[in-house]
Amino acid sequence: MSDWQQIIKDQSIASLEKLAEKFGHDVIDVEALKPAFDNFQMRITPEALEQIKEVGDPMWNQYIPTVEELDVVDGVIDSLDEDGDSPVPNITHRYPDRALFLVSPVCATYCRFCTRRRKVGDPEKIPLNQYDSAFQYLREHTEIRDVIMSGGDPMMLSDRRLEYLFQQLRAIPHIEIIRIGSRITSHLPERITPEFCEMVQKYHPIFMNTHFNHPSELTPAAVAALDRLSRAGVSLGCQTVLLKGVNDDPKVMMKLMHELLKARVRPYYLYMADQVAGGEHFRTTVQKGLEIMQALRGWTSGLAVPQFVIDSPGGGGKVPLLPEYLESMNDDEVVFRNYEGKRFVYKQPRQVPATPNEVERVAELDVVPIGRKKTATPRRTKRRRAAGE
Ligand code: SF4
Repeated sequence: MSDWQQIIKDQSIASLEKLAEKFGHDVIDVEALKPAFDNFQMRITPEALEQIKEVGDPMWNQYIPTVEELDVVDGVIDSLDEDGDSPVPNITHRYPDRALFLVSPVCATYCRFCTRRRKVGDPEKIPLNQYDSAFQYLREHTEIRDVIMSGGDPMMLSDRRLEYLFQQLRAIPHIEIIRIGSRITSHLPERITPEFCEMVQKYHPIFMNTHFNHPSELTPAAVAALDRLSRAGVSLGCQTVLLKGVNDDPKVMMKLMHELLKARVRPYYLYMADQVAGGEHFRTTVQKGLEIMQALRGWTSGLAVPQFVIDSPGGGGKVPLLPEYLESMNDDEVVFRNYEGKRFVYKQPRQVPATPNEVERVAELDVVPIGRKKTATPRRTKRRRAAGE
């Protein structure tokens, strides 16, 4: 057993009794929390535990079960309808040129807001012996050039199994990009071993979408793990989820983005929390997300500004949202406000009258050439029409 597997086995907290021993029975009501625990597995690694400084802080809120998980109002089990877009087990194929490949059912630490809580934590729900149909599907669908390995956390697999997956994917000529969605760098940085870093270099380009929600998660150990990945040539991005009681504050978000960049991780997405049953108490309003984006854009470098997206409920995919900068737009000018709220006007390019040749071609095709109005009818054409040509 590897050192990191030993840490998971021996040093993580995975029962309410152990949690109560750590924080006190007056804080952890084992009986009251049991239904939430039974509904979605709990495990907290030493690294994640270390980040909790007090009851109710942002780390506590992410990892400690609460009775609020049982308050289901609008939440649904599979809020993004991933299973509806699953042609074979373990694959979700929603977008034209990329596919999600669920390769691991487990995580080092379980996040209470997890969108995939219906599958995660239960080894039977993402069966590891059903990769074959997934590879077959990926081989047959030549339009797929980007595969996102996810779960659960793919980095919970052994190096041997990961290398097998990389080899299989690299044997498919049309797959250009392999991405790994993983929260391991903040939960179990020990997993980023020299052996893994050496092995992964054989299969580039490999991208890792990390997941950090709060600046305190970028501990020295996490930053060192990110550094090892960078040195191994893994391109690093971060997906952050906007969570009430965790990071729904522009200052916290700005700090998080800065800490990520210092660790050479490019902020990629800021997600609205999904409408997932069991995680509804983490949801903020969309206005809060827009307010945070407005506090980032222009006030700090563009590198530190992720795309703010809603993953459409029911499976419509990710849709980017922007604060309202545009005031009006017509053929002559565009009126907008900058990050400070000051108003500016941008003149549209002057509409150049169409040439006679263009008008004739347009009449045949019934299209308008870009940047030109389909209005002018040149005299030559009029003459021809009048002459019955
Ligand atoms: S690490 Fe990711 S998949 Fe695992 S519980 Fe957290 S959010 Fe869900």
